Amino acid sequence: LVREALKAAEDLAPLRPLISVVEDAEQQASIVDERLRAGERLALAGVPIVVKDNLNVRGTRTTCGSRALERYVSPYTATAVHRLQAAGAVVIGKANMDEFAMGSSNESSAFGAARNPWDASKVTGGSSGGSAASVAAAMVPVSLGSDTGGSVRQPAAFTGVYGLKPTYGRVSRYGLVAFASSLDQVGPFAAYAEDLATTMDAMAGHDVLDATSLQAPNRFVEALGAGVRGMRFGFVREALGVGNSASVEAALERTRTLLESLGATVGEVSLPTLEYGIAAYYLIATPEASSNLARYDGMVYSRRAAQGGDFNASMSASRAESFGDEVKRRILMGTYALSSGYYDAYYSKAMKVRRLVANDFARAFESFDVLITPTSPFAAFGVGEKSSDPLSMYMADVDTVLVNLAGVPALSVPAGFDERGTRLPVGVQFIAPALADERLISVAHALE
Ligand code: GLN
Repeated sequence: LVREALKAAEDLAPLRPLISVVEDAEQQASIVDERLRAGERLALAGVPIVVKDNLNVRGTRTTCGSRALERYVSPYTATAVHRLQAAGAVVIGKANMDEFAMGSSNESSAFGAARNPWDASKVTGGSSGGSAASVAAAMVPVSLGSDTGGSVRQPAAFTGVYGLKPTYGRVSRYGLVAFASSLDQVGPFAAYAEDLATTMDAMAGHDVLDATSLQAPNRFVEALGAGVRGMRFGFVREALGVGNSASVEAALERTRTLLESLGATVGEVSLPTLEYGIAAYYLIATPEASSNLARYDGMVYSRRAAQGGDFNASMSASRAESFGDEVKRRILMGTYALSSGYYDAYYSKAMKVRRLVANDFARAFESFDVLITPTSPFAAFGVGEKSSDPLSMYMADVDTVLVNLAGVPALSVPAGFDERGTRLPVGVQFIAPALADERLISVAHALE
């Protein structure tokens, strides 16, 4: 399996799903063989996986899609990855991504954008575009991404695979390079709901190395057969109609009919804060990013500019040549929003909106078990189509960011195709209350 995955990685190289291939993957696989021969029972024995290049894997480069970390080799392994390896998985590649996970198309990667396996002139979505493409193109059955505002779910929708953003704290962030720490979650991609469940059983759970990780039993595989009979699904009114492509509206309609035919009840629910989601998200994510990215000063382990001079001159030159435009834009926005005089108007206002978002979800979950929105208002767009217009790129996440602000879990499920031009997948997003991640996977399984 590992050899075949490595071969597929080679064949798919023109689509650039990976930033690097893990050289000793076959050796890792033979270690798994030995463990099996010694009698160990492993849920993911020999399963080749790909992980986003912001997850540390000991001995591999972890670039975060940035020149700043082009030569950085991880001295340790992220907990999420380590747990999958403990279950027998073999990491064969590090996936392409938007620089520091900032983007919705993979085009901000310093190593060139990954392309959509369905149509190479289209984006994969982002920021975990390489991880999504690796599963969509059947290189690997499972991959890992990170989701701060939609970065697992949106590329999953654009490439026709499942993508789960777990409850905040359900998966350890230890070893995930931070973008916006209060929103970041590691999440899996898979082609089948059952594979998501197996992966989550191996990966989720408390970790002493991440103080925000939660204690909760993993019953993902066990919950798979729960079905949807009697469950209450609420379509989010503010995410319907205007702004959605006809193919996305049709996918929602099919989902509604399918759920009803399986014995679920279906209604509508209002999340009034949806219209403030993007504004609040950027006023919370960019301040956290500006703080998290302060460590790349070109002194200890990030790229240092050749230009000498004192600390400030050297640091400025290093950051100027290491970071791409989108990362610089985010650092400037975040620094601005935190400045004295603007803090109350922007950051502290956004934090109040965040509370209102959580209240909206709490109210909605009093009457419904699962909420439904599109994952994205449209199918994959063309490479270059939005890259000169940051605001329209930001708007692509209108349906996903609220979920991160509230910390609840959400799953993008493949839900058909857009048939204008080339055949492109569209996705539907299912949202559950905190710690009901299992419910989302069992719903997906019932719809499969
Ligand atoms: N596209 C969003 C952004 O650019 C979300 C990114 C993410 O989830 N990492 O910030």
